[in-house]
Amino acid sequence: MSCSPRPKVLCVHCGKLSPPAVHWPEGAVCKPCYRGALSRRGICETCRSERRLVDPPGPNARLCADCSGTQGLLRCRECNAEECPYKDGLCIRCALREQTRLLIDNIDGPLAPIYRAIISNPQPYSAYNWVRQSASAKIMAEISNGTLALSHEALDSYPKRVAANLVRQILVANGVLMRRDDRLSELETWINSKLDKVSSSKDQHLLRSYAIWWVLRRNRERGALSNRSTTSTGHSK
Ligand SMILES: [Zn+2]
Ligand SMILES: [Zn+2]
Ligand SMILES: [Zn+2]
Repeated sequence: MSCSPRPKVLCVHCGKLSPPAVHWPEGAVCKPCYRGALSRRGICETCRSERRLVDPPGPNARLCADCSGTQGLLRCRECNAEECPYKDGLCIRCALREQTRLLIDNIDGPLAPIYRAIISNPQPYSAYNWVRQSASAKIMAEISNGTLALSHEALDSYPKRVAANLVRQILVANGVLMRRDDRLSELETWINSKLDKVSSSKDQHLLRSYAIWWVLRRNRERGALSNRSTTSTGHSK
């Protein structure tokens, strides 16, 4: 009956009584031992290559499937890697590639460097979670499908500031967006917010001209000279 608990049997690998995950030629194997066997890697005693070790079955395995003449265990259905499947028979790298394709549909388009950076991430498990769940990945998807423009300005006005700034950093780091002098653009925003408080539109116009042409230009020149010293923006405020 469907609601009765699955019967427990002795696992041939660890000797504990638990519901079996799989029945292999040597007998019933519990879930932790099943996953352990699929992930067991080391140097095969015979061929000296780094492989999944399967023989003798269990934690003392010393030989790969080829050297032991056994059939071998489950592999990734996509790349054939001897790894414990992460999702739907795919290893973590193939699952990450599949998930990233959902995020960036045109992998030859402007976001191609982002696609390559994600799938070659040295930490595929965290990369997978980032792609699947993070707010910044959702923004990346919006850029990919054209809902959000690929520009600093579009990211500036995005309601989720932290996530949008993270996306900006990723885009800049991968050469998709040009680096922008953020302190100068902060200064521009600051000047504009101050000018909005000046009531007369004539005064506003004059001040804006002064601000844009003198303060900002002076800052840009200083920035170029001092290779963006940390104080140049601070002084003009
Ligand atoms: Zn076991
Ligand atoms: Zn071998
Ligand atoms: Zn794979």
